[in-house]
Amino acid sequence: MKKPVIAIDGYSSTGKSSISKVIADKLGLVHLDTGALYRGITWFALQHCTEDNGSIDLNKLFFSLGKIQLEFKNNDGELVLYLNHEDISKEIRTNKVSENVSLIAKQKEVRDFLLQSQRSLAEKGGIIMDGRDIGTVVLPNADFKFFLTASIDERTKRRYTELISLGIEADEQQVKENLIARDKIDSEREIAPLKQAEDAVVIDNTYLTKKETIESILSFIQKI
Ligand code: C5P
Repeated sequence: MKKPVIAIDGYSSTGKSSISKVIADKLGLVHLDTGALYRGITWFALQHCTEDNGSIDLNKLFFSLGKIQLEFKNNDGELVLYLNHEDISKEIRTNKVSENVSLIAKQKEVRDFLLQSQRSLAEKGGIIMDGRDIGTVVLPNADFKFFLTASIDERTKRRYTELISLGIEADEQQVKENLIARDKIDSEREIAPLKQAEDAVVIDNTYLTKKETIESILSFIQKI
């Protein structure tokens, strides 16, 4: 029997990736955190495509996209992102990347660059992909679609705790501002904006634990 294709979209810090990872383990699926790919390209741009004042030179980035190779490798059960064979899993979570990623992700050249590889990964089924446009653009025919949301204060708390646990310095107010700014750019961009697919199941997990959110997704999948 073909394993399902599951799309999980939603706002920043609603737990999409960590929830998807657990569901992937439980159902024997591959998990793809597509946000990490956009973060990887942003990290590359910050390293190799900047102007003298430090801002990103988009044309230089577009010209260099062909030089970017992103792959996930399994390090002791943990999927780690490599950029041109270098582990960048910690770098992609830094504030500098969070501050620039939505600008990079709204560029057509960048989205086109990533679209086909995301789709190819889902061709054989057996995948759970999380992001912003998975149910609407990348995998509109996914077997199951979920859209996660939560209050801004709860999401701020979660992202702040995550950063601190990764050893990254953080300020709660700045974290909140970054989430609001990213959600705005992601929702208002022209290409593949963050929005709920019409056929997605919406879960507001403000008052749900991670375990409860996972149970609610699993019970929906098992019911069908
Ligand atoms: O999921 P995460 O917060 O790591 O995503 C980082 C950024 O990548 C988002 O704010 C958004 O700008 C971009 N993104 C996107 N489309 C996706 C996944 C992420 O535009 N499918």
